[in-house]
Amino acid sequence: MKYNVVIVGGGAAGSVLAGRLAADAHTSVLLLEAGPDYSDPAHLPDEIKFGHTRFAEAPDSQHNWALRGTITEEQGAIHVAQGKVIGGGSSINGQAMQRGFPEDFDSWAALGNDEWSYDKIVPYFRKSERDLDIQDNYCHGSDGPIPVRRRQTGPWPPIQQAFHAACVQAGFGTTNDKNGLHPAGLGVTPSNNLDGVRVSTAMGYLGPVRHHLNLTVRGGVFVRKIVIEDGKAVGVEAESGGKVFQIESDRVVLSAGAIRSPHLLMLSGIGPEDHLQQFGIPVIRHLPGVGQNLMNHLSAQTTFKVNGVSLAGHHRDAIHFALHFTAPGSSAVNDMVLRTTPVVDERRERVPGIRTKYLSGDVPPEQAARISCTLGLPDGSGYVPSRPSTIVISSIQTMSDGCGKACEWRCNCWNRTRIKTWPTTGSIPRMTFWATTTRWTAGYAKP
Ligand SMILES: Cc1cc2nc3c(=O)[nH]c(=O)nc-3n(C[C@H](O)[C@H](O)[C@H](O)COP(=O)(O)OP(=O)(O)OC[C@H]3O[C@@H](n4cnc5c(N)ncnc54)[C@H](O)[C@@H]3O)c2cc1C
Repeated sequence: MKYNVVIVGGGAAGSVLAGRLAADAHTSVLLLEAGPDYSDPAHLPDEIKFGHTRFAEAPDSQHNWALRGTITEEQGAIHVAQGKVIGGGSSINGQAMQRGFPEDFDSWAALGNDEWSYDKIVPYFRKSERDLDIQDNYCHGSDGPIPVRRRQTGPWPPIQQAFHAACVQAGFGTTNDKNGLHPAGLGVTPSNNLDGVRVSTAMGYLGPVRHHLNLTVRGGVFVRKIVIEDGKAVGVEAESGGKVFQIESDRVVLSAGAIRSPHLLMLSGIGPEDHLQQFGIPVIRHLPGVGQNLMNHLSAQTTFKVNGVSLAGHHRDAIHFALHFTAPGSSAVNDMVLRTTPVVDERRERVPGIRTKYLSGDVPPEQAARISCTLGLPDGSGYVPSRPSTIVISSIQTMSDGCGKACEWRCNCWNRTRIKTWPTTGSIPRMTFWATTTRWTAGYAKP
């Protein structure tokens, strides 16, 4: 078996690459994905198809690697979701189609990565999207494969009204375009969910070229290592149906995700020499940066009880606001994101304390809501040590956060939910804001 390109991992990036490369009928492309492939959208399982549940990111979903992680020693190991299905994270994620801010890209360019300035990146954003709400010639695309939708009309759910009112009352400014040139402040969250259906990169990019005879997509194939000869990647070793295959290719694209890509590099002998030797992996290239500087945006979910309003019947597709702002005392501009959603979720909690179901104690779901507080610009990073078949990642993050900003109610921000009455004035709850600083230590392990 020999291909021009073999792509390892059919996730968010791998599906885009396969779709783009296979557009050239003269390039033979093999896309290998460890999770299942769903070639026909009609056969997509509901947990992938309908974006407003969190079943797919639960540890017992077959669409999830279910890695283990440690945020703090006190807290112990937690579940870390990573997509294991065609489309990868884009098939299980929250579908927030939120870009980085222009100044974030420009700060990368200022560090010397001139190809990453916002001016140079924005044509690719335009190319990737079909914005159904905002048309302009600079920021937004109108004919790309991924739809972008902001619910801006129709009644605002009470919880969103409350959130909006509280933010404005607290002095935060508003923006009408969270993917525009001035996205900070309070605005409607863009999403790639269209009328309840998630549009993953597998659907948007791979779907239209699946009939190309130069493209082969195989799910349920686990790539064990990249085969390297004379310092050049010449193929991969992969396991399919219990058998191991050697696949040759002119080019190997590694798109197995932020955790699995460095892991696979290390299993293939590329990484920090000492570390590879420690696990008996023959060193092909000493590259100390492999597996380093892992960053993620940590979130704390805080759940609270609302008084005076019922959140039942809340339309999941309705307007959702997000607030980007700078945490007090932080040197990183617009490092925090706050959002709120109801906790209407009928699932049983399959693993106590993780995100399969938001903890609401004995509070009925129609009276529980949550604020998620996300650190968008973490100031710390971790690493991915490796040994065959084991991933361990650890990281230290300082979370200067605006977590737990509800009036007369405080979140302890250790992934524990604290329910307290959320006072209301009429049907609009009042909220005030406070900030705290918390240290997080994250580590992930998967045997
Ligand atoms: C629960 C969750 C919620 C998120 N919410 C959002 C959001 O709302 N908005 C947003 O923009 N981003 C969100 N993200 C992040 C986003 O999904 C990721 O940044 C994105 O998917 C990364 O793309 P990737 O191609 O690098 O990796 P992935 O999409 O993870 O793809 C990697 C693929 O490689 C496959 N793979 C790995 N190892 C092997 C192997 N050895 N052999 C074969 N295949 C392999 C995996 O199964 C996977 O399909 C979320 C992520 C998660 C997990």
